[in-house]
Amino acid sequence: MRTNKFGIRIAASALALAVSYGAQAVTDEDIMNDANTPEDVVSYGMGTQGQRFSSLEDLNTDNVKFLQPAWAFSFGSEKMRGQETQPMVKDGVMYVSASYSRVYAIDAKTGEELWQYDARLPDGIMPCCDVVNRGVALYDDKVIFGTLDAKLVALNKDTGKPMWIKKVADYQAGYAITAAPLVVKGKIITGVSGGEFGIVGKVEAYDANTGEKVWTRPTVEGHMGYVYKDGKAIENGISGGKAGVTWPGDMWKNGGAATWLGGTYDPETDSLFFGTGNPAPWNSHLRPGDNLFSSSRLAIDPDDGSIKWHFQTTPHDGWDYDGVNELVSFDLKEGGKTIKAAATADRNGFMYVLNRENGDFIRGFPFVDKITWAKGLDPKTGRPIYTEGGRPGNPADMEGKKGKTVVAQPAFLGGKNWMPMAYSQETELFYVPSNEWSMDIWNENVSYKKGAAFLGAGFTIKPANDDYIGVLRAMDPKTGKEVWRYENTAPLWGGVMTTAGNLVFTGTPEGYLKAFDAKTGEELYRFNTGSGVVGTPITWTMDGEQYVSVASGWGGAVPLWGGEVAKVVKDFNQGGSIWTFKLPKDRVASK
Ligand code: CA
Ligand code: CA
Repeated sequence: MRTNKFGIRIAASALALAVSYGAQAVTDEDIMNDANTPEDVVSYGMGTQGQRFSSLEDLNTDNVKFLQPAWAFSFGSEKMRGQETQPMVKDGVMYVSASYSRVYAIDAKTGEELWQYDARLPDGIMPCCDVVNRGVALYDDKVIFGTLDAKLVALNKDTGKPMWIKKVADYQAGYAITAAPLVVKGKIITGVSGGEFGIVGKVEAYDANTGEKVWTRPTVEGHMGYVYKDGKAIENGISGGKAGVTWPGDMWKNGGAATWLGGTYDPETDSLFFGTGNPAPWNSHLRPGDNLFSSSRLAIDPDDGSIKWHFQTTPHDGWDYDGVNELVSFDLKEGGKTIKAAATADRNGFMYVLNRENGDFIRGFPFVDKITWAKGLDPKTGRPIYTEGGRPGNPADMEGKKGKTVVAQPAFLGGKNWMPMAYSQETELFYVPSNEWSMDIWNENVSYKKGAAFLGAGFTIKPANDDYIGVLRAMDPKTGKEVWRYENTAPLWGGVMTTAGNLVFTGTPEGYLKAFDAKTGEELYRFNTGSGVVGTPITWTMDGEQYVSVASGWGGAVPLWGGEVAKVVKDFNQGGSIWTFKLPKDRVASK
């Protein structure tokens, strides 16, 4: 036995383990500082603000063509689909989740497995949109993630053994967790999936060390929030005011607004930013009103879960335009001032720039080629100006049968879906993974039944163009203009990263990891990983070399829900691996 500086005696075996892995405990400071420490990636978003921007420039437009695979690691088993994860790296160890609620620790130098954890999932899980997991959180000696049966699991970072497991919600009612949790001030913050099953969305905080619940904040108006202290639940305000104000009758009781994509955190305003999904059911004629806080962005106090402000992108949504997309904090420099701004690219086809201190609308603009359901946004409030006849018809007008079908663009899978965009502090542009598609959509009658789909709608998705669906766009938040675009045959479904080396990385369902010139959009690099890339790339340095990693494994919502679009991708093979690349030392330009 030895004694460490805190006077705690450590067994020799534990010490050996710590030495062999070399991964130190992750502190709050490490997480808050993540964007400024290129030697590790300890937050989802490469910084809690979610910019996905790296200051690294060893790898750049001149030498990215020499980027080479260093290793690839298979997630194994027959569970080969939907690898939407973002890896984490700390002290030479990679922590990465895979589909079906699996987590791996891997030696980041060699690609050798250190441990694997498979959550034991019940038969009755109900993930709407594939068995995905988007990433883990790291805190202290723990690797924490959410499961498809709506639990949070904390694993020991050195052994992969569970330290605590907490039920967040009832999977039999349709709840699941697919997003990476967020860590703020020692608390694990999570949302929930399940908006297609009439669940009630919520954001919750848990003590990272013990797994005890700290607060809960429902995201449907009328539901009470609570703070938990000494085993007691203390009421913390009804979300949005009284029940039934923006919802008719009892519809708020199963109002959806799932917080399924997780959130970002801005330390400058001490705010969690969470988006909320569609109001339930999809048939909007059953719930006249704004249906707060569905299809909105919420700024939440991380200490007690109270809502500081909200901004609703699609009031009274009728097209499944979930408002979950990440709100990315950035400094907007214009008019001689620096505004604490944040931007988000919505499923509904509009991109919004907000003041992140108070939620005020600064500007909004389309980031897709065509929007049918709205004519534009009110320049003062950002509220959509609805197109007459753009909403699917009311079944009540057709004697309760199928209502009138409309063609709507974007399709319900969105101008942008879950895949995170990136913001470059160098070019001051956002790099937005988007898709051009439309849908036929109609409404039907439906009533709530626990654990059953609660839609009251039918739909078919179609490509908007013959030769491409995906478009990676560079968007200028000052002008709303598209600076460049890259068109991809299949829909884009992977996250984006940008670097000070003037590079933008993303993946394609065709299997490629690609790199583009951040200023011009010129494609500079492609490498086929053997299956569709729907994960989110990261970059970091190790022993003085710059690395890039991305998960590979086709899947997600498109092959399940894509209608005509699913035909475009039907021959893509599923997979499950993580690829790691590096630039050979002799290719780094001397400075
Ligand atoms: Ca870092
Ligand atoms: Ca939805």
